[in-house]
Amino acid sequence: MNYKEPAPINPHEDDPFESMMSRFDIAAEILELEPGIYEYLKTPQLQVTTSIPIQLDDGTIEVFEGYRVIHSSVRGPSKGGIRFHPKVNISEVKALAAWMTWKCAVVNIPFGGAKGGVKCDPRNLTRIELEKITRRYTGNLLDIFGPERDIPAPDVNTDEQIMGWIMDTYSMHIRHTETAVVTGKPTYLGGSAGRREATGRGVRIVGEAALEKAGIDPKNASVVIQGFGNVGAVAAEEFVDIGCKIIAISDVTGGYYNPKGIDIQKALEHQRTHGGLLKDFDGGERISNDELLEMECEILAPCALEDQITRHNAGRIKAKIIVEGANGPTTAKADPILEANGVIVVPDILANAGGVTVSYFEWVQDRMGYFWPKEVVNERLARILTESFNSVARRAERHGVNMRIGAYVLAIERVANTLKLRGIYG
Ligand code: NAD
Repeated sequence: MNYKEPAPINPHEDDPFESMMSRFDIAAEILELEPGIYEYLKTPQLQVTTSIPIQLDDGTIEVFEGYRVIHSSVRGPSKGGIRFHPKVNISEVKALAAWMTWKCAVVNIPFGGAKGGVKCDPRNLTRIELEKITRRYTGNLLDIFGPERDIPAPDVNTDEQIMGWIMDTYSMHIRHTETAVVTGKPTYLGGSAGRREATGRGVRIVGEAALEKAGIDPKNASVVIQGFGNVGAVAAEEFVDIGCKIIAISDVTGGYYNPKGIDIQKALEHQRTHGGLLKDFDGGERISNDELLEMECEILAPCALEDQITRHNAGRIKAKIIVEGANGPTTAKADPILEANGVIVVPDILANAGGVTVSYFEWVQDRMGYFWPKEVVNERLARILTESFNSVARRAERHGVNMRIGAYVLAIERVANTLKLRGIYG
């Protein structure tokens, strides 16, 4: 299997769960959440650590550690990706699971939030070993997963094929094919049209809405994109389609700047012929990732990793708008600095929600056994994200807060209201 370079996970400025909680706390205060509801919503519903022993190709046995955290299933079955990475840990999985709860609530889809991971380095594993890890992980969590219970999806270093193995393993155990147990599958196995592009497309949809709100014509907007993977490369193509100029792009090998506009198709072609990397791309002047983040532009879209905009560089950010394609690219300590400087931040739980929205469409289509054309998927995606952007912006204005806190307020209120109506069992 041709694996992507695992995204290095940076040391966090805060513990990731604490970072999530500091935003949660601000929103909870605005909502005047009662203490019991506050405790309920902050505490993950289930945290599982599981051992995954497999026999490697050389005959030796190695035991990997796997995790699944269900943060909430108050609004429906929990939803969230599985990450294969050597640095994955339970605190990170807990934070990512909570973000999924808020993300699904922001776009108002009937899911709770979860996340999973296996501590492993896919670069050092063969395809057969990866398949064994995936199947054993799925087998161990068989009582947790299910189309009405908990539905995984891809995340860093897990792809369509891995989702296919999860679907097959689950189906073998329950003795019939159940495609709706996992999303992000190949279309042969019940995947949805438009799922691969959905997150990058969503980044553009909310970026365009933010430009409009700021009174900027997309044709006069320059865009900088960090990370040229699934999210960033599609977002770049989409921004070009609405007339924006992409002045800088980057990947793990470094950045490229061209004030006249980078030829995105040429960059994609370079990536295809250079092992998936931009290394030695001749369509722009070579710059560092740090320089890229601090460029003057209308939109900066961090689409790579966590913790890119921190208290150390936030004061030097010159973008008018940040659209967070990645999960957690801005630390909690950077938020007030950006706000003081008038930078509009379209937060991750809204900006990258296009992926989970089309995952929801995939789940619906699998359960119906009836598949929609790509145009229908894209039209429904655009409607949901535009409405969500407007709801978040209205919330932020009403409470006099930034869009991130507006998004948390909206999401937490939706989950809290559902919880109150359901009542506490026990
Ligand atoms: P990917 O692996 O396809 O792409 C990541 C890109 O970032 C690659 O081009 C990589 O080279 C680059 N990168 C890695 N380290 C970098 C660095 N230090 N500086 C600059 N670039 C660097 O991953 P992806 O699926 O595009 O996901 C990117 C982010 O978006 C992650 O935070 C992920 O959790 C988030 N996200 C993805 C989806 C989705 O549907 N794929 C949905 C929601 C959120």
